[in-house]
Amino acid sequence: MFNAKAYSAASAKSPLAPATIPRRAATDHDVQIEILFCGICHSDVHSVRDEWHSAMPTTYPIVPGHEIVGRVTKVGDAVKKFKPGDLVAVGCLVDSDQSCLHCKVGHEQFCANMTLTFNSPDKHLGGVTYGGYSDGIVVDQRFVLRVPSNLDLAGTAPLLCAGITTYSPMRHWNITKGKKVGVVGLGGLGHMGVKFAHAFGAHVVAFTTSPGKKEDALRLGADEVVVSGDADEIKKHYGSFHFILDAVSAHHDINAYLHLLRPDGNITLVGAPAKNLEVSAFSLIMGRRSLSGSIIGGIAETQEMLDFCGAHNITADVEIIPIQKVNEAYERLLKSDVKYRFVIDMATLKG
Ligand code: NAP
Ligand code: ZN
Repeated sequence: MFNAKAYSAASAKSPLAPATIPRRAATDHDVQIEILFCGICHSDVHSVRDEWHSAMPTTYPIVPGHEIVGRVTKVGDAVKKFKPGDLVAVGCLVDSDQSCLHCKVGHEQFCANMTLTFNSPDKHLGGVTYGGYSDGIVVDQRFVLRVPSNLDLAGTAPLLCAGITTYSPMRHWNITKGKKVGVVGLGGLGHMGVKFAHAFGAHVVAFTTSPGKKEDALRLGADEVVVSGDADEIKKHYGSFHFILDAVSAHHDINAYLHLLRPDGNITLVGAPAKNLEVSAFSLIMGRRSLSGSIIGGIAETQEMLDFCGAHNITADVEIIPIQKVNEAYERLLKSDVKYRFVIDMATLKG
């Protein structure tokens, strides 16, 4: 075991503050990583503040962070894929049982025994797992990903959650040229959704509550932008979408978007607001529309997404911050004031 520097929160009402945490000594199958960058996902905020208490209660202290990019410092004897010096990434998962039906087909994100990067029971040290707001982490090699060499490292970190969470459902619903795709909420996830839908060749419409994001949405790859309050603009799209990705972090009226689907169209929820959303039966039964959800992606698909990003030169638009500004960044995230992902420069933890 060794000590790592981190930022943790002691309760739902406490700010994140400097802490020392234990990390396990690398076993034969482990990769030890010096963390260089970690993205700030809205899930970090939901978890730190225990907003998902009924579904996923938070154990304190919590060290959040699951958008990790770093450099390998040590590998176990059985590790053949990685060597010290390699640039690697870790996302939302650090383990699963590898034996269930889901793991066998590469859907570790559905494994009942998966270990999340933070706030999951830690099989090695007891207590819970600690995430990426830290200078180092030790992860089983099967959950470590390769970073394409052409990508900017800070811009790559958010791909590990915001990237895979938007890539995976668009692959599942076969988003290609000829499809009309909506993306609701231009935050960390939403802006990656726009980039991927555009890269897949779809006609992309971004829905935002922030008029100031209009120009950016077009630059990110949207063909059209609708400011959500504009009823006339919204009406023009009635019954026309094949697919809509809902990436909103707060309570909102999803029926307004269900009406925009064409027959057999689908809305996939990736946003995880704490409060239940109400769905009108008529929004669904008219046109045989469907509403579904999606959570991150499996390890193989995450590597596929990273390689796709390497081939198409796709990274997140980031605002790099020192870790000392993390609490301020949380407040700004709650005001939708980020373009489009905060990423912590972990070198600032050393100072
Ligand atoms: P984020 O960066 O804060 O973006 C959320 C966006 O939602 C905001 O930028 C804003 O976009 C919009 N929004 C915020 N409040 C709103 C309101 N009251 N009404 C309508 N729109 C509103 O968050 P994120 O990191 O992208 O995460 C989004 C959600 O996905 C969170 O709930 C997070 O926990 C969840 N998540 C799920 C998964 C999964 O696997 N399913 C993975 C990661 C995250 P505009 O300014 O454009 O309106
Ligand atoms: Zn996340």
